[in-house]
Amino acid sequence: MTVVTNSPVWRPFTQHALQPGAYQIAHAEGAWLTAEDGTRFLDAISSWWVITHGHRRPEIMAAIRRQTETLDQIIFAGFTHEPAEALARRLVEITQPGLEYVFYSDSGSTAVEVAIKMALGFWRNRGAPRARVIAMEHSYHGDTVGTMSAGARSVFNAPYEALLFEVARIPFPEKGKEQETFDALEAFCRDGAAALIVEPLILGAGGMLTYEPQTLAEMKRVCEKYGVLFIADEVMTGFGRTGTLFACEQAGIVPDIACYSKGLTGGAAPLAVTMCKREIYDAHYAPERARAFFHSSSFTANPIGCAAALANLDIWRRTDAREKVANLCAMQSKRAARFADDPRFLDVRHLGVIVALDLKVAQSGYLATISLDLMRFFNARGLLLRPLGPTVYVLPPYCITGEELDLAYDAIDAAADQLASGAL
Ligand SMILES: *Cc1c(COP(=O)(O)O)cnc(C)c1O
Repeated sequence: MTVVTNSPVWRPFTQHALQPGAYQIAHAEGAWLTAEDGTRFLDAISSWWVITHGHRRPEIMAAIRRQTETLDQIIFAGFTHEPAEALARRLVEITQPGLEYVFYSDSGSTAVEVAIKMALGFWRNRGAPRARVIAMEHSYHGDTVGTMSAGARSVFNAPYEALLFEVARIPFPEKGKEQETFDALEAFCRDGAAALIVEPLILGAGGMLTYEPQTLAEMKRVCEKYGVLFIADEVMTGFGRTGTLFACEQAGIVPDIACYSKGLTGGAAPLAVTMCKREIYDAHYAPERARAFFHSSSFTANPIGCAAALANLDIWRRTDAREKVANLCAMQSKRAARFADDPRFLDVRHLGVIVALDLKVAQSGYLATISLDLMRFFNARGLLLRPLGPTVYVLPPYCITGEELDLAYDAIDAAADQLASGAL
C-alpha cells in the first residue's frame, strides 16, 4: 500500500502527530479510489460530499478536455465567456423561480461569504443598514473567518474566536420542539436582522442532523414577515443529496440568496455560485460606483469549471440521473431500516441519499479518538468512511450499486460489534 509519510504537504483537518500517513490515490472511477499498488477504497462519502454521479464521469471529463482547447482563466470584470453565460442561464432555469442573478466564485466558503456580503450590501444600499446575521445552532458554513462566524463555535474555531463576529443563534429544531426555533427566530427578526442563513433540511458537518421541510418553510415565512433575507446554504444539499435537485424544493420555498458549490460540477472541479433575487441585485444597481458589489476571486467563473458544470447540468437534463437518485434513496432507506431498532446505535437517520448512524460510545464529540479508530477500521476494509465523532454516515455517489452499499453497511455492522465488545 502506498502510504505517504515523509511529505511537505499539510493536510486539511489533520493532526499529523496522530495521522502521519495518507494513502496515495492513483486512479478514481465511479465509486472507487485505487491506490498505486492496486488497493481499492469504496468512496462512501463522495470524497467529502463533492462527487455526485461518480468519479470521472465521462461526459464531464470530455467537456473539460474540450474547453481546454479554447479557454483557460480569463478576467471576469469587463469580459465574459460563453461557458459562464450559458451556465448562468441554465442555473436560472433549473433553480427555483425568482433566483435571477448568478455570482461566480470558487468554493463553498466563498459562496457563503458572498451571500453574507450581498445581504449586508442590500440593507446598506437601501439606506437602512442592518448587520445582524441569524444562524442555527450546530451549523457549518465554511472555514473562512466570516463563515466560521456563522457556523457553530467549537474546538475547530476556538483559536480564532477573537476574530469571529457575533451572530444571533437560533436553536436547532429538534423534533417536537420546532416552536422554540420559530420563537427565537421571530424575536431576532423583530429586532431587525439582516438575514437568516441555514443549511436546508440537513446540517452536514454538524452531524447530519435532519429537520422537516415544513420547519424550513415556517422559518422562511417568519423571515418574510419581517423582511429579513433568507439565505439557503445548499453547498452540501445541492444537486440531489436530499432526494430532490435542491433541498429548498421540498419546502416549496425560494430563498432570497442561495449558495451552491460541491456538486455544481459533479464534483470534478472547483466552482461555486451565489444566486439571488432581483431585489438584491437591484439594490446594488446605481450610478454611484460605491454601491457596486465589491467582491472578486482570481478564479471567478473559471471556464473549465463552467464547462464541467454545464456537462453536469446536461447529465441532470438528459440522462436518468433523477431515477438513479430515487433508486439510491430507496436502497439507503432499506439499509437504514436494518439498523433502526439496533441497541448498538442511539439514532439512525435517513434523508435522500444520506444515512447517518449515531454509534453508542462512551466518549463523544468530534475530537474523541473514536472517529480516528473507526476511520482506520474502515480504511483497512477498503472503505472510505469518515465518521463525524460517533456519527457514521454514508453519502455515496449516485452510481453506487446495492452490493457496494452493502460493503459499507457490513463494515459498519462489524465496527458496531467491535465497539460493543470493547475491541475498538
Ligand atoms: C462544505 C460546506 C461549505 C464550505 O465549502 P468549501 O468548498 O469547503 O469552502 C459550506 N457550507 C456547507 C453546508 C458545506 O457543507
